[in-house]
Amino acid sequence: MKVSTVGVIGAGQMGNGIAHVMAMAGYQVQVHDIDQEALDASRGLIDKNMYRQVKNGKITEDAHTAALKRIQITTDIISLGQSDLIIEAATENERTKQKIFDSLIPHILDHTILTSNTSSISITRLASRTDRPEKFLGFHFMNPVPVMQLVELIRGIATDQETYDICFQVVESLGKTAASAEDFPAFIVNRVLMPMINEAVYTLYEGVGSVKAIDQSMKLGANHPMGPLELADFIGLDTCLAIMNVLHDGLADTKYRPCPLLTKYVEAGWLGRKTQRGFYDYRGDVPVPTR
Ligand code: NAD
Repeated sequence: MKVSTVGVIGAGQMGNGIAHVMAMAGYQVQVHDIDQEALDASRGLIDKNMYRQVKNGKITEDAHTAALKRIQITTDIISLGQSDLIIEAATENERTKQKIFDSLIPHILDHTILTSNTSSISITRLASRTDRPEKFLGFHFMNPVPVMQLVELIRGIATDQETYDICFQVVESLGKTAASAEDFPAFIVNRVLMPMINEAVYTLYEGVGSVKAIDQSMKLGANHPMGPLELADFIGLDTCLAIMNVLHDGLADTKYRPCPLLTKYVEAGWLGRKTQRGFYDYRGDVPVPTR
């Protein structure tokens, strides 16, 4: 089976990035979201991000124009039914994802491969509630999608080899590298990354250091390109909290308990860059630490 049409569900940070790289690689892409505003913003954002690549000499103006033409947006999930490959990249909430697959399944083709970009939810469990657990895979891009080289491919217990191989080829066609991960909570990257971010929030919560001191320490002392709190704002604090909860529940180890301060920021709606405020306030010209 050759993939030529790709459906992307969710026009947030990840969905937009996935649509961008898929269209650049020549796939016909349909992006679905329930939020019309998110869809309207999506086109402009993808256009802007592609244009940045033109300015940096990474792609040509013609490739940019052609790729944009390959992207369609829709609030109607049924339109995605004709896709060869569907990548679900909606909000990190199991019930939301479940409802999406429930409404999609009656409309998809026999050969359609279903995947989820979930950062942490069990692929086996999501797959088991569909009509095709053998054609279900975790397709986990990193943020920002056009820049990051890695894609984790996560096999559920029932995923067949053909599905894995097809998705592996899709990753290669994007010029990216696939890492194979087993289906345990948060897979590889987030299993290691999120407890570090959570520990940075504890370091802040306990008053060991300020936002600035913590980020500067990890950048200059551990040679990380971004500080952990800056990175948390970039990922989205709601996403970070959701992943810590999955690790805590799934592995039943108290070392994964989310920091109460992380919960408080999420309760305040301070979710990081996407809401203009998180561990930094982004409403001015330069980000200002909020603690
Ligand atoms: P986001 O909040 O930026 O976007 C989520 C989008 O999903 C929103 O536009 C929302 O309107 C839409 N949505 C919500 N319910 C929907 C529904 N029922 N049907 C269709 N669309 C719906 O989130 P994001 O950061 O893009 O994350 C999306 C997924 O990608 C999550 O599963 C997350 O864990 C995963 N992910 C995130 C990152 C990251 O760094 N942010 C990295 C890798 C994977």
